[in-house]
Amino acid sequence: MNSFTFYNPVKILFGKGQISSISKEIPAGARIMLTYGGGSIKKNGVYEQVMEALRGFEVLEFSGIEPNPHYETLMQAVDIAKRHQIDFFLAVGGGSVIDGTKFIVAAMEYEGVDPWDILAKREPVKKAAPFGTVLTLPATGSEMNSGSVITRVSTKEKLSFGGAYTFPKFSVLDPETTFTLPLRQISNGIVDAFTHVLEQYLTYPVNAPLQDRFAEAILLTLKEEGPKAIQNPKDYDTMANFMWCATMALNGVIRTGVPTDWATHYIAHELTALHGIDHARTLAIVFPSLMRYKSETKKEKLLQYGRRVWGVDAGTEDECIEATIQATIAFFESLDIPTRLSDYEVGQDTIDHIVKRFEERGVKNLGERADIQIPDVKEILTMSL
Ligand code: NAP
Ligand code: FE
Repeated sequence: MNSFTFYNPVKILFGKGQISSISKEIPAGARIMLTYGGGSIKKNGVYEQVMEALRGFEVLEFSGIEPNPHYETLMQAVDIAKRHQIDFFLAVGGGSVIDGTKFIVAAMEYEGVDPWDILAKREPVKKAAPFGTVLTLPATGSEMNSGSVITRVSTKEKLSFGGAYTFPKFSVLDPETTFTLPLRQISNGIVDAFTHVLEQYLTYPVNAPLQDRFAEAILLTLKEEGPKAIQNPKDYDTMANFMWCATMALNGVIRTGVPTDWATHYIAHELTALHGIDHARTLAIVFPSLMRYKSETKKEKLLQYGRRVWGVDAGTEDECIEATIQATIAFFESLDIPTRLSDYEVGQDTIDHIVKRFEERGVKNLGERADIQIPDVKEILTMSL
């Protein structure tokens, strides 16, 4: 097992009715900015529950944070928050609202010239305003990690940042808040969480059986609960299990002491930036090709994944690997998530565009072995056409 440091200070308030507890988690007298998206929280009663819980606090609302949150919008929030001397933020929504709020809290305290440098130049975040979250969409794990992905519309860039200062102080996970999710978002959430696990599991063995079994437990649970969530999206226990899977998939636990890949996320972000394809759907396009392209260096873990998660054990090693990749594709497609670029009418010109951008950005050494270079990215995307 590799050496590691594990740090996760996020307090989780899980279960029905937990929104009512948030006032105890926020400093008395705080001036709060409530951040949210396009209004789903106003249709499902979450907004009312939050406002009721915040009674007695001064609350300023900032709505309109888009899916794949826009830097341009978030900078408006920073400006307003500074003018109103906001000292606590509460993000209510999915990964986009939470990621966007992480950028706001980092930009609030940024001492450099342009907060965009946090993303473009990877300038370290040295402090951030405090914030909590109320999660309404199980998918990203953003509610229990410090990562954030932000899109700049003017340049069609989608970049990430993280660090020790952008963990939420607390996150409320009430499965009932997910009952109004459209099926498309439930499917997206399952595939995003599933891919988060695979990016931290499907690498090479380092004799870490506990981490392997943690990862496999999440994959198996998503495989079982995912289809149930689609069939019965108002079943409390199903949504509770799905929600906890998505959080556990990316809160740092399964990453301890093992190599991680993340090439799929890195490449896939370009497809969202250029074509607006939902995050999870871009992962479902890139991941199967990456598995195939890297099947030699990922061989042992691919065989283990196939055996333990999909029950694949008949045939030669190559046949087992192909059957495992096929099972993964079939799982994504059973959730109505297409897996090819052509399903979105995206073609060779986009691949060339991504290659050019990566060349300009000097992208190199992706993947757990740092052996995915730009020509490999081109191959992987070509396999997904
Ligand atoms: P999202 O973009 O936050 O939300 C997608 C849509 O679902 C929005 O229209 C939202 O509406 C709606 N929605 C959310 N909760 C709902 C509910 N309970 N009922 C009805 N509609 C609801 O989706 P996401 O998949 O959670 O986040 C995707 C973003 O996270 C991407 O930018 C991705 O790159 C990023 N990401 C971050 C991490 C990380 O670790 N930080 C990891 C993976 C991905 P409203 O706008 O009205 O809220
Ligand atoms: Fe993701």
